[in-house]
Amino acid sequence: MSSKRYLLGCMALLSLMGGAQAQSADDLRKDNASPGNVLTYGMGYNNQRYSPLKQINASNVSKMQPVWAYSLNNPQGQESQPIVHDGIMYVTTHNTTVALNPITGKQLWKNEIELPQDVFKMACCGILNRGAAIFEGKLFRVTLDAHVMAMDAKTGKQLWKVKAADYQNGQAMTSAPLIANGVVMTGIAGGEYGTRGFVDGWDPATGKRLWRFHTTAAPNEKGGDTWPGDTHEKGGAPTWLTGTYDPELDLVYWGTGNGGPWNPNARKGDNLYICSVVAIRPKTGELVWHYQFSPNDPYDYDATEVGMLIDMKVDGKDRKVLAQANRNGFFYVLDRANGELLKANPYVKVNWADSIDLKTGRPVQSDADRRVRAGEDVEIFPSVLGGKNWTPMSWNPETQLAYANTLNISWPYQLSKPEYKKGEWYLGINFRGVNMPKNEPHGYLSAMDPLTGKSKWQMAWPGQPSMAGTLSTAGGLVFTGAATGEFMAVDANNGKKLWEFQTSSGIIGLPVTWEQNGKQYVTVLSGAGGVWALLGDERMSQVPAGGSVWTFALN
Ligand code: CA
Repeated sequence: MSSKRYLLGCMALLSLMGGAQAQSADDLRKDNASPGNVLTYGMGYNNQRYSPLKQINASNVSKMQPVWAYSLNNPQGQESQPIVHDGIMYVTTHNTTVALNPITGKQLWKNEIELPQDVFKMACCGILNRGAAIFEGKLFRVTLDAHVMAMDAKTGKQLWKVKAADYQNGQAMTSAPLIANGVVMTGIAGGEYGTRGFVDGWDPATGKRLWRFHTTAAPNEKGGDTWPGDTHEKGGAPTWLTGTYDPELDLVYWGTGNGGPWNPNARKGDNLYICSVVAIRPKTGELVWHYQFSPNDPYDYDATEVGMLIDMKVDGKDRKVLAQANRNGFFYVLDRANGELLKANPYVKVNWADSIDLKTGRPVQSDADRRVRAGEDVEIFPSVLGGKNWTPMSWNPETQLAYANTLNISWPYQLSKPEYKKGEWYLGINFRGVNMPKNEPHGYLSAMDPLTGKSKWQMAWPGQPSMAGTLSTAGGLVFTGAATGEFMAVDANNGKKLWEFQTSSGIIGLPVTWEQNGKQYVTVLSGAGGVWALLGDERMSQVPAGGSVWTFALN
């Protein structure tokens, strides 16, 4: 071998080693098939939160026990999804990022974030963070005061930190970034504050902003005619959760939230792109297609939890779909190549629309909605919390069912006059909270068919409904948690509870599973809080605060 060829060979080997050590675009793409790591929010770009691991299964899960617990030293609600890579687990809170040994729970490093004091009275719906993203040896996260930052994944050392928005306008950042086609993508919260939403693309190496896609259309843009005057400027459409990515179509799907103000008469028109999913090119932010679930929405039906990418048969035809159980109570199935609406059926009680017209893609107006818009005081299903709230569902390809914590709650709705004040809620409704039904459960763990919205089974929550996410495994299990802190495994086929363990606080987070040295582990954060706690349910006073990470395995 000539020395030149030898050198080239060494360089190829080095770059291969670099690829194995630092997670490449290809590693992220294969995340759902590589159970040793959890590299993406959603446990795979398809956001199915499904693991092929089955060492822990329906026949032995009763022997699952805690392996370790780690205190986050943080009294807020814990909604962060852990990332596991190369023998390190990364967890975020609103003011720290920690790296842990996933087998022992021992802290490897901890990085604290300084936040301005006045941010705490601004952040709308919880002092929290939903997780980090990892790419080429760097860890990325966002902050409550609307910055994006990169750290060295090995040491926690900060590499760059850039400002995305002004938190004093009511804009906050809480969700895990998405890495797609080499671009770091982030969204923004603050749709209740008369802000204008957007999705940003950042250069992972430098933190330079590559593009911004505004989620309300300006008058000179396509869709701009759906807003009167300059109403798009305070029009909302926040993007406060993480999108999903289809690498073959090179499309990122990002969900958008409510219009601003909530009172729809202040912004007559469809208001593109509130309460929608937008399909955009990660390299440029170019809009390829959109679908709007709730045109001119009055009800805070954020479509921010974007749903799952599934390849499935619809009416006998193979389709690549985006399946979303929308906060507005309908389960939507779209063709994700072009946005064509294939199915839309209610999965909870709904009265704001009679149905969704599959030909036009638009809701068929109900009598209740007509009365709301005329100014009457009307009980609306589902409530401001939605048919389900922000936490993602999971998919099991064997049962062909989607598992989600759903809500059985309505709210009294009446319009009032909206008034904009910088940094304050801009609603224009007479907000009086929600109505719990008297003699029915307030929520269920539901196993749903996305094509019909019907549940094969439901497990009723005995007290407070659960706002936790779900995890599905090839072991025939669904993992989820209770507002009162019980972490549990449920039989995916029939909803029978097979195992539970009382953690130290309430669970509102997202369980993950992974393996190391041939052993399967399950991890979840415990820490009560979030939007449910804000509603003042007095039953929550019995649940102690305090964030911690719990990891379980078979005895
Ligand atoms: Ca909202």
